[in-house]
Formats: sequence, structure tokens, C-alpha cells
Amino acid sequence: MNEQEAHKLGNRHLRPISGLNSPSGASRRVRITAADSTAATLSGQHTLWMLANLLARQYGVVAKIEIVVPAVALYPQAALFGRRDTIAETIAEVIRTVGGREIQIADDVLAADVEVVVGTPPVVSQPAVHRVGIVASGWRIFAGNPELTPNVEMEGNSLACYFAACIAAGEVFKRLCGLQPGKGRFIESLIFSLWDFHSYSEWSIASDGPDVDAIDVPPFYIVGAGAVGQASAAALASLGVRGHVTVIDRETIDSTNLNRYPLATLSDVGASKTQLLKSRLSGRGLSIYSSDLGWPGYALNPGIDQRSEVQLDESNYRYKIVLSCVDKNVPRHDIQNYSPENLMGASTNGLGIAVANYDMRSDFECLKCHNPPEPKGPPVEEIAEQLRQLPPNERQQRAQDCGADWSSVERYLAEPKCGKVGEAEMEKFTAGNPDWSVGFVSIASGTLLTAQLVKFVLQGSEAFPTDKGNTLRFNFLNPGPRWSMHRRNPDCDCQGNGKAAYCRIWGQ
Ligand SMILES: [Zn+2]
Repeated sequence: MNEQEAHKLGNRHLRPISGLNSPSGASRRVRITAADSTAATLSGQHTLWMLANLLARQYGVVAKIEIVVPAVALYPQAALFGRRDTIAETIAEVIRTVGGREIQIADDVLAADVEVVVGTPPVVSQPAVHRVGIVASGWRIFAGNPELTPNVEMEGNSLACYFAACIAAGEVFKRLCGLQPGKGRFIESLIFSLWDFHSYSEWSIASDGPDVDAIDVPPFYIVGAGAVGQASAAALASLGVRGHVTVIDRETIDSTNLNRYPLATLSDVGASKTQLLKSRLSGRGLSIYSSDLGWPGYALNPGIDQRSEVQLDESNYRYKIVLSCVDKNVPRHDIQNYSPENLMGASTNGLGIAVANYDMRSDFECLKCHNPPEPKGPPVEEIAEQLRQLPPNERQQRAQDCGADWSSVERYLAEPKCGKVGEAEMEKFTAGNPDWSVGFVSIASGTLLTAQLVKFVLQGSEAFPTDKGNTLRFNFLNPGPRWSMHRRNPDCDCQGNGKAAYCRIWGQ
């Protein structure tokens, strides 16, 4: 990637979004702080690693990061990339490889615009205009004024650590952009548990949830290896669960992905999304099978080198656990059409996330009910003809805005028969204007999806108690956990053909 391209990074979170102003550009210095006692814990390191990762992706918002973290030895499992001898060096390496020239590491300690304090605040504090503190213990999370931080050790599971890091990165983003009048709030004190997804007035009564060491997850699928899929897999890998996952996507990483893909660095632009995920997370508890065919491409051409028991199920179209991490409704329909036995999905909408259970045995929605397919765009050849009319520099700009690889597009325009790569890039122009998106929202969404998968493995359908609903929500503008309930759409085929197909495969 050259410098000019680097400046185009992450423009998705610089688009207008309701509730937030545009970043002013003047106040952009952030500090990451942890006391010795926090930095020396695995949980503290999971949090610091993800926090640095998230802040380094806030291109055009964060400009400089101070690291006030002691040089204690790294737990290797706390870093999914960027490993160095100490946690302080590791997070500096993460910031360098993700932030590049856009986000610098400060070599001095000045007044920060926002400071994030992980764990118990250090005895001596450095000047900062705004502060946010985070703590994770078990499944519990605190976020808010560091002076209100509960006096507990950082011993959260990695899900609570990652989610807490997302909340802190969200508060930094909100501080540096500013809230629009009458919209949203900064967190003074938020105590909640990822275990029951409820908020509490006091730390001592928040439910801690069970230990999650040594969990075995049955074979499952992640469809979509974008921001949400990467975050979900990263959370599973950092948690140390054992199991076999099949990861399915057909795209490659482009520069507009970097603001929210938790496993991608600047040098990964152009890499296959599934291969990147596999290379970052191999050697942990998960065995990973990957397919670049997308869905339903994979279902139609399942891997012959896939695990034998999975192959047997696939030959009967039996997909027992599927995580939908795609961001369009057409592929959502394609997933539901195969009637997975247990289907959960995560999505984002502006500053909000939703994680839902699409249980065909319940009265709640299926993945198709409230996700109408997007209208089909004009044919690729029509777009190509329009692009040919533009001067090359405008074409390049359009390609960049859509996240399409410019050189592949140019090759396609010159010679439309030149293959699938060019055509896949051309399809990005037909998708319309990409939505606003940012790292902390997407990664929180994938982390929460993994929390629900783990709960499902531990306690079955109790992971989504029907009296609360089938969907968990969290909005970063007015932060807090919330459940919601979504019944079936009477016009959807899930009460007719869809239900019949499900019953044929799985019984009533
Ligand atoms: Zn439906």
C-alpha cells in the first residue's frame, strides 16, 4: 500500500452519522494507561491488546497514542498478532502495523484529549481532558468515570475484555467527534454482565457467570469473514475454546476494511479474508477449515478434504450450528434457505449492534423474516460502460470509495473477459453507497455473537430465554444492554415451505 492509499483508509467512519459531529481534527491525542497490577494479568493484556487494535483503526479521528503501560512480559495468547516480549511493546507494534503513518505513537506524555484507564487506576495520574475507565471480571464489565472503578482484579474472560475495550474505544470516538445536541450520552457508570446481558446499579450484584476454561464447541460454521466474522473467531480463539470451525467467504481484504477488521494490518490488503483469519488464529484450540466459495457456493461444492464427520453431515445438508456474519440480506436468505438447525446472527446498524437467535422451533423470526433482499443493481456491464466515460482519476476515486481494487477494475474495463477477480471488484460498484461503519461497533457485535455461542454450548436454548426475546442489543450512543422480541413475518415462507424443509432435515 502506498502513502496516498493510506490516507483513504477507513473513510467509512468519517461519513455522517446521526448523533455524532464530524471529528474536529484539533483534539486527537489518546492515552492508554494501565497500572502494573493490571498489565501483569492475562485479562488486562487481552483488554489492552484489543483496545490498542481498535484505537489504531480510528483513522482521521485519533492522531497520536500515548502508551503508559509497564513493560511486563506478554502472555502470548493475549496477542493475535504483533507479539513482542512485553505487553507495552506488543500494543505499540499493533498500532504501528495497523495505524501506519496515520496514527503515531507518542514518545512523550502530555495532556491527552482522552485517556483510557484499564483496570484499577495507577497511583500517579497524568493530565487528560476526559477519562474513561474499564474493568472486566468473569462476564462482568464496568465502564465509566475511573474514580468509580470497582476495586476488583482484572480477571474477565476474553469476551468481557474485548467488549469492555469496544466500549472504551466508543467513548474515545464520541469524545473526539462530539455528540450532537440532545443526542446520546457519555458513560458515567455502566455495570453490566455479558452472562445475562443485564445492567446493574452495583458491581456486587451483577451476575458473574461460569468459568469458561476448557470448553468444547461442536463443529460450526462462520459465514462471512469480514469484521463481524473475524471478531467472532478472534473472541473464540482468545477464549481458548476447542472445536472445529468452517469459515466461508469469497472476498479479499481492501483498504476500506481496515477501520474495522480486527485481524487485518496494512500489509494484508489484497489477502483472502478466510486465509487471513486462518493464519492469524491457527495453533490455538480451534481447527479451521476455510472456503473461498462463499455461501451457497460452499454448500454446493463442499470440501473433499473437510473433516469426515462434517462431510457426512454436509452430504445430507445438515448444518448444525451456523453463525451468520454477512452484512447483506441476499446472503442472509441464502443461509436461511439451507435450514441450519441452530442459526445465530450478528449485525450492525450505525452505532447499534444486534445479535439474534433464528430458532425455527420457536415463534420468533427467521433470518429472512425482517431482512428483505436488496434490490438488484444494474448489470456489471452497464456500470462498466458508465465508468469508461469517466476520466481515469475520477474512476480511481470511485473505485476507492467503493472499496474496489483500482487496477483490477481498469483491467476489467479494458478486457471484460479477464476473469472473476475483475468481475468481483466491479460488483462493488453495484452495491450502492457503503454504510457508515466503525471498528468498535463491528467488533462488539462479533464478540457478543461468540458470547451467545458459548452460552448456547453451555446451556442450550437458555442462552436466549424466550421471555426476554430472541435478540440482544447494545447501542454505543446511549450505552447499555437491551433485549428485544421479533415475531415472524406472516408473509415470510418460514411458516410454509421453510418450516417443512426444516422439519424434513431435523424433525419437529
Ligand atoms: Zn421468516
